[in-house]
Parts: sequence; C-alpha cells; structure tokens
Amino acid sequence: MLCKKCADEIPELNFPEEQLLEIRGLAGYGLKVFLVSKLLELGVNQRDAKLIAAHLNPKAGECSSCDFDELEGENTTCPECGAFNYNLSEGPFNQEFCDCLEYSLDFDDLGIEEVKGFWCDGVSAFPPDMKSLSKAAIQQNQQIITEARVGKGGQDRYRMIIQLGPKALDYYKRDLDLAACIPDSDHRYWISIDPEQHEVWVKLD
Ligand SMILES: [Zn+2]
Ligand SMILES: [Zn+2]
Repeated sequence: MLCKKCADEIPELNFPEEQLLEIRGLAGYGLKVFLVSKLLELGVNQRDAKLIAAHLNPKAGECSSCDFDELEGENTTCPECGAFNYNLSEGPFNQEFCDCLEYSLDFDDLGIEEVKGFWCDGVSAFPPDMKSLSKAAIQQNQQIITEARVGKGGQDRYRMIIQLGPKALDYYKRDLDLAACIPDSDHRYWISIDPEQHEVWVKLD
C-alpha cells in the first residue's frame, strides 16, 4: 500500500481483533506517543510504527493530513491530498451511536429529586478497556463500560454501564446499528443513576 503524499510504502495492520481495538483506541484518543510504544511492544519495528501512527486517522472518515472528512472504506487514499489513511471501521459501538444515546437520555423523568435538571454532554466511544469491545467479550459480558459527562452542567465524569439485551447482542454480533436498540419506552425502565457514586446504567433492548 503506497501513500501518494509521502511516497512511503505503508505496512498492513495484521493484528488480532483485540489488539486492533487497542490501537484504534489510542489513535482515537490522539495519543500518538502511546500508540507508537504499543506498536513497538507488539513487535512492529520503529519505522513501521511511525508510519502506522502517521497514517491512522483518529476519526473514521476524516483524513489525517487534511480537512477532507468523507473518506470511505478501509485502506483508502484521500481524494483531496493523496494521503493514505487506514480509516479503520468503527464497529457498532461508535460515535454516532454514542451521540444518539446521549440525546435519548432523560433524567427528569426518573422521579429522583436529586437528578432533576441533569443532562448528558457526551458519551465516550472509547471505553477505558478497548478490548472489552471485541465480539467475544461483548457476548460474554453483555455490557460496555465507558465514560459519560452528566450533571446539572452536563460536565461531571460518570461511569456509564451500558447493558446489552438480546436484540443489542444480536445487532452487535452482526455489525448493525445499535441506535435501533435504544428503548423508546418510559425512561425509568431503562435508565438508572447513582449521583453519589457517579454511575449511570443504561439497558438496551
Ligand atoms: Zn503518507
Ligand atoms: Zn487528505
């Protein structure tokens, strides 16, 4: 795979699912230094590690070298600047789903005086343990533990436990849009919150 912008031969990412998730997480967090050390730890040589880090776009669709944000498919060349981008597919637990979940949350309905006026200002698509997003881990644990911003100003750090019901587990396995598994029933049935422990539970269908 050749990058037309820097004229370098770009190495393929031949890693098992769990390692690929960790690599994608570090790129997504914008932690290039950690990304390079992770790659070295996985046995990639220095030159390739730097090339990988430089061509792994942090956000799917967005070129790592210019403003173009409509990249399609993996291992693709940016039509705008010619740069190679790995453009790794995000899987079912992605920013789009997290945004959708954020907008679906409502704490006023829960009947808890303490959380009246609470709102959510972001659910992270990058859980602290990226390996927990592997297909096998999801089927086994049936949950995703990530971070969310919640509170009166929507800015307190909460641990969010997203439990996957039968439909969500099936959708996850088949790479389908998890947003279809956000319940439209009464919020009390699928959202709970503990403001003291800074924890929120969400139960998908
Ligand atoms: Zn390049
Ligand atoms: Zn570009």
